[in-house]
Amino acid sequence: MSDGDGEAREFGFHTRSVHAGSRPDPTTGARALPIYQTSSYVFEDPESAAAYFNLQEYGNTYSRIMNPTVAALEERVSNLEGGVGAVAFASGLAAQSAAFFTLLEPGDHVVASSALYGGSVTQLKHFFRKLSVELSFVDPDDLDNWRAALKDNTKLLFAETIGNPGGNVLDIEALADLAHGHQTPLMVDNTFATPYLARPMDWGADIVVYSATKFLGGHGTSIGGLVVESGEFDWANGRFSVVADPSPAYHGLPFYETFGIYGYLMKLRAETLRDLGAAMSPFNAFLFAQGLETLPLRMRQHVANANAIAQFLEARDDAERVSYPGLANSPYAGLVAKYLPRGAGAVFCFDLPGGREAGLRFISALNLFSHLANVGDAKSLVIHPASTTHRQLSDEELAAAGIGPGTIRLSVGIEDAADLIWDLTQAFDAIMEA
Ligand SMILES: *Cc1c(COP(=O)(O)O)cnc(C)c1O
Repeated sequence: MSDGDGEAREFGFHTRSVHAGSRPDPTTGARALPIYQTSSYVFEDPESAAAYFNLQEYGNTYSRIMNPTVAALEERVSNLEGGVGAVAFASGLAAQSAAFFTLLEPGDHVVASSALYGGSVTQLKHFFRKLSVELSFVDPDDLDNWRAALKDNTKLLFAETIGNPGGNVLDIEALADLAHGHQTPLMVDNTFATPYLARPMDWGADIVVYSATKFLGGHGTSIGGLVVESGEFDWANGRFSVVADPSPAYHGLPFYETFGIYGYLMKLRAETLRDLGAAMSPFNAFLFAQGLETLPLRMRQHVANANAIAQFLEARDDAERVSYPGLANSPYAGLVAKYLPRGAGAVFCFDLPGGREAGLRFISALNLFSHLANVGDAKSLVIHPASTTHRQLSDEELAAAGIGPGTIRLSVGIEDAADLIWDLTQAFDAIMEA
C-alpha cells in the first residue's frame, strides 16, 4: 500500500497480523475472509486453463494445490515471517515431510537437533530412513557437534528455535553460517516462538516450518502446518539437481531456472503437495487466519504468564529444574536476548522431586490446566510425559530424553497469571497432603 506521496509504507507487525493476505471480497464486499469451500474453479476459457496447468499463468485449478482462503493464510504467514512465500499443509508434520521431500533424494544426509518435537524425530528416524535418507542427531547446543556431523552428502540442517523439553534456544545465525559454508540450507521449526517472538530468516535460516496447530491458530481448534522460504538459497549451486534440473514429474520444467526465488516453493506446491495430497482445508485456513489477527496480543500474554509462573516455580523447593529459557539464570539467556527479545515462549518443564507418583497426583489436582497432549492453546495445558507420551520408556531412557519421572510440562495460556498460580499452588498442596 502507498501513502499520498506514493511512498510504500512498511506496516507494523500488528497491522500485518490483521490485514496481510486479505482484502474485502471483491465479489460480495464481505469484510471477513471468505471461506471458499470449493474443490475446483471454472476456467474463463480453454486457453487460460492450459496456461494454468503449464504454470505459465497463476490461477486456481483444484483445491488440493491452491484455494483462495488458504492462499490468504499463506500470504499472511509469509508476510509476518519475512519470506517470499508460503505453502500450507494439512498438518505441521505434513508440511515438514513435504519440505524435506522437495529437496532430498535417496542417499542424502540430514543433520538434525536431538531436541526436536517427538513426532519430528520419529518422522526422520523411521519414515525418511525408509526413503533411504541418512540421518545424524546432534546435541544442538554445541556448534562443534553440528560441524562434526557434516558429510559430503549432507543436504539439510534442521532444528527448532526453542527445543523441547529442555528449552534449548538455537544459535540460528551461527548455524546458518555453518550450513551455508557447506552449501546447505538451514530449516528451522519456529512453532514454539511464532514470527512475533523470533524470525529465523532474519538470521539466515532458509526454510521455516510451522505447526499452525499451536500458537499460530492459538485456540486448539484445528490441525495445520506451513512451509515458508526466504528465496535466498542458491538451489543452482550444483548440489540440488532435484530442485534445479528439468523435472520429469512436471513435463521437464526446470523449477529454479523458471521461477527463480519462487522455484523451491513452486516445486513444493505444484509437485510435492500435488503428489502427497496433504492439503489444508479452507475452513481450517479461515480459523488459522482468524487466530493470527490476535497473535501479537496473545503472545504477549502467553509470555508474561510464562515468566510469572517460571519465577513462581523457581522460588519453590518442591519444583526443580525449571527449564524456562526466559529465566535470568537460564544458560540460554544470551541467546534469548539476541533471538527472542520479546520473550522465550510459553512451553517449558519442571521436575517434581516426588517422581511418577507425585506427577500423577499433581496433574489430577489441577483445575484450570487441562491434561492433554498439545501446546499453544489460549487455555493452559499440562502433561506428565512419564505416564503419557513417554510411558513406554524406562527411567534410564527417560533420562536420556531429558525427562525425569517427575517431569511436568506446561503450556501456559492467556488466563490471569494469579489464577494459574492459584491452581498450581493447590496442586502442590495436594502432593504435600498425600
Ligand atoms: C506439534 C508440533 C509439530 C507437528 O505438528 P502437527 O500439526 O501436530 O502435525 C511439529 N513441531 C513442533 C515443535 C510441534 O509442537
